[in-house]
Amino acid sequence: MSSHPKGLYLLFVTEMSERFSYYGMRALLTLYMVAALFTMTRASEVYGTFTSLVYLTPLIGGYIADRYWGNRRSILTGGICMAIGQFLMFLSACFIQPSIQVEGGAIDPSVDNTLALWLMVSGLGMLVIGNGLFKPNIATMVGDLYPQDDRRKDAAFTIFYMGVNIGALLAPLVCGLFEGSFQDPGRFRWGFLIACIVISLSMIIFWTFKNRFLVTPDGRQIGLAKPKASPIEGGREEGLLTRSDYIHMLVIVILAVFVIFFWAAYEQAGSSLTYFADKQTDKTFFGWEMPTSWFQTFPAFFCVALAPVMNWMWQKMGRFEPHSIQKLAIGLALLSLAYLVIAFGVKDVEPGIKVSILWIISLYFIQVLGELSLSPIGLSLVSRLSPKKFASLMMGIWYLSTSVSNFAAGKLATLYPEEGQTKYLLGIPITDLHDFFLIFVVMSAVASIILFCLCPLLKKMMK
Ligand code: GLN
Repeated sequence: MSSHPKGLYLLFVTEMSERFSYYGMRALLTLYMVAALFTMTRASEVYGTFTSLVYLTPLIGGYIADRYWGNRRSILTGGICMAIGQFLMFLSACFIQPSIQVEGGAIDPSVDNTLALWLMVSGLGMLVIGNGLFKPNIATMVGDLYPQDDRRKDAAFTIFYMGVNIGALLAPLVCGLFEGSFQDPGRFRWGFLIACIVISLSMIIFWTFKNRFLVTPDGRQIGLAKPKASPIEGGREEGLLTRSDYIHMLVIVILAVFVIFFWAAYEQAGSSLTYFADKQTDKTFFGWEMPTSWFQTFPAFFCVALAPVMNWMWQKMGRFEPHSIQKLAIGLALLSLAYLVIAFGVKDVEPGIKVSILWIISLYFIQVLGELSLSPIGLSLVSRLSPKKFASLMMGIWYLSTSVSNFAAGKLATLYPEEGQTKYLLGIPITDLHDFFLIFVVMSAVASIILFCLCPLLKKMMK
């Protein structure tokens, strides 16, 4: 750890607190909507649209940083937008009126929560804009702390990723303490307020220490806006995008397509897997029942615990360390294995019967090994391959795959088996849990095999 620049730890803390704020709010969002505003179906739709949009805007945030503002100003503006967004969520929950659910799960129409609804929609909008400006730019800065092709980058992004997951782990535990209810939906406001305070603190820390720590190895400040070029210089700069730059960008786009399959399965955690944890997993220990929402913290916990192990392992492998693209393919293969384990664990389990908690824990454990092999390594690859001029935009393209995945994940989750219904995927009947989990086994195995086969070609393109 000591061999990394101090700036990495500033970005670590900034990202950790930003993710705390994001995941804290996210843990409460659906519950808040269901408690006072929408039916479960409507709330799921809004949630799906929101999580998809937050990963769409990094494309714009990356472009703005590369072209106009630089990373620092984009991160600060994004952070301020997110703080305003969280504050609007807080205000929404301050104005919310308790309502009762009438038949069919609809909300009692006599309670007027229009103001709270619009405050929430504006808050979510600010979070979407803020995340777009923040997320790609902080990752770009991690890469900028090192020389372009530095071998330490995989390890650096893995450490940074630990920050992401410490935030993701603590947030639901803290903000989750302020879950409201039908009778008291206003209680949610304290969770949103905490999220607002934490992102504000994140920005204060970032802005205070940026000049001291965010520097290149030779002491130049990073993340500043590019100086305005004269028309002649500007023209010349355009000409510097060489053929190999284009090929590198193409490699990033190809890899981003493969990554879609990973996150589409991974993001089942918030939907079908939560449902599985809730309805078909035995969570009782000595008479005490574990809350379903706690299952959401398992992946983040495993990430924090296993990230140093993975870094140590890659380092120990020395010259046998797989190439970064092979690591992505390994990530997909591990994801496939994770779902294979649970698919067989639940084979022939009748609806309504609960299975051991060990199945879902094994799934998350193996899945996180895959995540650590794919997600931080992917960021590192993008950082190494992107031409400087488009570094943040390429990060935005990388996150675009998560946006597509979140959308696809929602659609795939609707195939979760329900009694008395046969669902179909491409004409193939999905009759039970075993079939459902096999979808993800096959999807990620195929993606992994194709990526392994493409490795020699992609490696050549990277040269
Ligand atoms: N857990 C990661 C984060 O929140 C996932 C990002 C992604 O690419 N899906 O940063």
